[in-house]
Amino acid sequence: MNLIDRFLRYVKFDTQSDELTNLTPSTPGQYKFAQALEKELHQMGLEDITLDENGYLMATLPANTTRQLPTVGFIAHLDTSPDMSGHNVNPQRVNNYDGSKITLNAEKGIYLDPAEFPEMLNYVGQDLITTDGTTLLGADDKAGIAEILSAVEYLQARPEIEHGKIRVAFNPDEEIGQGAHKFDVKLFGADWAYTMDGGEIGELEFENFNAASARVTFTGRNVHPGSAKHKMINSIRIANQFILMLPRWETPEHTEGYEGFYHLVGIEGSVEQTVLTYIVRDHDRDRFERRKRELEHLVRKTNNEFPGCCSIEIKNQYYNMREKIEPVMHIIEVAEKAMLRAGVTPKVQPIRGGTDGAQLSFKGLPCPNIFAGGLNFHGRYEFVPVQSMEKARDVIVEIARLVANPE
Ligand SMILES: [Zn+2]
Repeated sequence: MNLIDRFLRYVKFDTQSDELTNLTPSTPGQYKFAQALEKELHQMGLEDITLDENGYLMATLPANTTRQLPTVGFIAHLDTSPDMSGHNVNPQRVNNYDGSKITLNAEKGIYLDPAEFPEMLNYVGQDLITTDGTTLLGADDKAGIAEILSAVEYLQARPEIEHGKIRVAFNPDEEIGQGAHKFDVKLFGADWAYTMDGGEIGELEFENFNAASARVTFTGRNVHPGSAKHKMINSIRIANQFILMLPRWETPEHTEGYEGFYHLVGIEGSVEQTVLTYIVRDHDRDRFERRKRELEHLVRKTNNEFPGCCSIEIKNQYYNMREKIEPVMHIIEVAEKAMLRAGVTPKVQPIRGGTDGAQLSFKGLPCPNIFAGGLNFHGRYEFVPVQSMEKARDVIVEIARLVANPE
């Protein structure tokens, strides 16, 4: 089946995930989609097909050679972002895009405008798939699923391309940070894998943030304001003092590239008690540890002034996969070569976030991230160029080819 038809069929499944249900998959739509894909895998004649109760679907394209070759995996996620509805997605196709403003929804006056999204102009002359302005598109990550299965189909149709065993996996709940938790790395049994979950064409990522969250609690003492002199301790004001002690420029709005930050994501306060919630991010492990120590230091400083007022709870969330990829850099080199063969310029860049691949790498499956082709993820302005999806499929095919026959 054609890559784009496949993609257009997949986006019709509502697979929006939900961080509040505490279920896996977090929503039933994801399981329905997994079941439909399971059927498709059977029709394609794949082997070792498993769909577990958590919605993890895996399958094998067997090697077509008797030579001993590594097993490579390709992974994409079933869910779409909780940030925007994925119900009743009505994709629109704009052929031979001319660089002008695209009307997503005339009635509601919603446009995809290169004045706001200048990246659109990189795709003039190509065919774009957009939303109708009322939902997200779900190219994140259904483009990845369509690309993987189309690459498998491509290899099946061309037995002359020698390849080793290829494993594919589709997992739920990436968007709520739960995609890798119940991923059975042993059952998957690949030597390494790639998530097809990046953005624009060429993206190749094997570095992500080290991440922690911190909850800082300030306990005050409430007294009637009329008789509060030397008695009241206002936790809101102490929390405010704490906020101002952190470097102002080390915040998401002032950083890029490899610059880390402290990000105040929540504040809840009364005179009696104020709680600040931070996330801490840094690519560099030492700097990351230093940031956490700095928070603890500021807590001690606050307690020197207001004894027993302030406490902190720090939780590590995930780590930079770089340390797990560095010993196996050939898997990055293969991906770069595959891109060049497919006519794609590799753009290696650090992720300013995390990925399933990072967690999988720490679970023993080195797993960098490759572009799926879409832009403006998680909202109504999401779109994907058809040609980028075709290139992503070609990159998968070339990886399979290169693993069997390195240059
Ligand atoms: Zn994604």
